[in-house]
Formats: sequence, C-alpha cells, structure tokens
Amino acid sequence: MRFLVISDIHANLAAFEAVLADAKAEWDKIWFLGDLVGYGPDPNECVALLCEHEHISLSGNHDWAVLERLDLESFNGDARVAVTWTRSALTEESRAYLEQLPSNLICEHFTLAHASPRLPVWEYVIKPDIAATNFKYFETQYCLVGHTHLPIVFEQRSNGRATPYAPLYERVVPLPRTRLIINPGSVGQPRDHDPRAAYAILDVVNMTWEHRRVDYPIEVTQKKMRDIGMPHRLVDRIEHGW
Ligand code: ZN
Repeated sequence: MRFLVISDIHANLAAFEAVLADAKAEWDKIWFLGDLVGYGPDPNECVALLCEHEHISLSGNHDWAVLERLDLESFNGDARVAVTWTRSALTEESRAYLEQLPSNLICEHFTLAHASPRLPVWEYVIKPDIAATNFKYFETQYCLVGHTHLPIVFEQRSNGRATPYAPLYERVVPLPRTRLIINPGSVGQPRDHDPRAAYAILDVVNMTWEHRRVDYPIEVTQKKMRDIGMPHRLVDRIEHGW
C-alpha cells in the first residue's frame, strides 16, 4: 500500500494538478495533512479535485480561519486578506467538506497532524527542541506533519534530543527504526526557497519514504491571484519559494 503524502495545497490548483500528474499511478490513497484553502485562487476546485480521489484529509489553521473557528487577528495582514476572500468564494459544498475534517488522527500506525502532535493546528515544528518535545505527544513510531511548508525530517535521539535532516530528493529511503517526525513540504506555497511543489510517496509495506519536487506553471496561479486582487506579496512569494 502506497500513500501520496501531501500538505498545504492552499488553493493552488496548478500545483496540485502537477503533483497528481507527476505521481500518477504510483499510490493507492492520498494522505492530505491540511490547509487545503487560503492564499491561493482555487479553493473550490482544490476541494473538488481532492474529493475525486480516495483520501483522508486533515484540517489546518487556514481551513479553520475560513470556517471562522479562529480569530483573524492571529493572522498577518496578507493572510487575513486571503482568508477573507476565501470565505466569500467558498461554496456551501466546499464549506461542508471542510467542516467535517479532523486536525489529527492515526492511520496505519502513523500519527498525522496538521501542525504538531502537541498542538495539531498551531505549532510550527521548525526547530530541533520543539521537535524533541513533541515526541512525547504521540505514541506511534512515526508522525507526519505539515504547516511549516518546509520539507524536513526530525529523528529522536536516545538522549531525548532531535536531529533534523533535509530531504534527499528522488531517492527511496528506508524508514529507520528510530522515531521520526516527517514533513513532506507544501504543494501550493513552498517556503524553502525552492518554488517547485513538494510531495512524498510513503510505502507502508516496504516501509520507505521518498521526497519529491515537481515544476508547475506558477504564472497560471499568479495570474488568477492578481485577477482576484490578492496582495502582491502573496503573488510574488510562490515564484521564489518563501
Ligand atoms: Zn499552510
């Protein structure tokens, strides 16, 4: 059984389509780690495309904000504009879909959380000390998270610390027997200065993981963003991957 592990699509349909085309027929089911909407111009189209495939899905902080479960004050100005636009653009059907998503769950002996196992909607697992603390908050060997938009793996050490390592792309890596927190990166708004869409293939029979990147027509998404009046900073950043 192989899973297409993706996170943070952020209503970027062109990026999502490129990932699906690149990974075609190499997986059985999608595991989506949250933030389906927010920032990008195609929230309803991304909900519909995800629903065309067998999948499980989590809810992220942007999804929560669009559903008015979070105060907009907790977002920066540009993100606030994006959330407000998304609220107005979202169909009843898309809203109903987002409403029923959990923010964390356990699947095939993997813990899945949008942000972190400790705070599934909020915490950024960027630094090793935050990762180290989070190993206490899940019981499975591996935990998959999104939210930071940074592909990374944190490995728990015997001294209780965590060691981060950057992904090896296009390489099928056996999952070590140590405990890991793994982030596949973001489909729709990568922030590691590589603008290509990020995703991963997880094989739970052979216990392997593969980080991948794929080009997509960024200008298609940018044009749509400009047309709906998204802030320039949000339009620019997807071209530079930050
Ligand atoms: Zn996000």
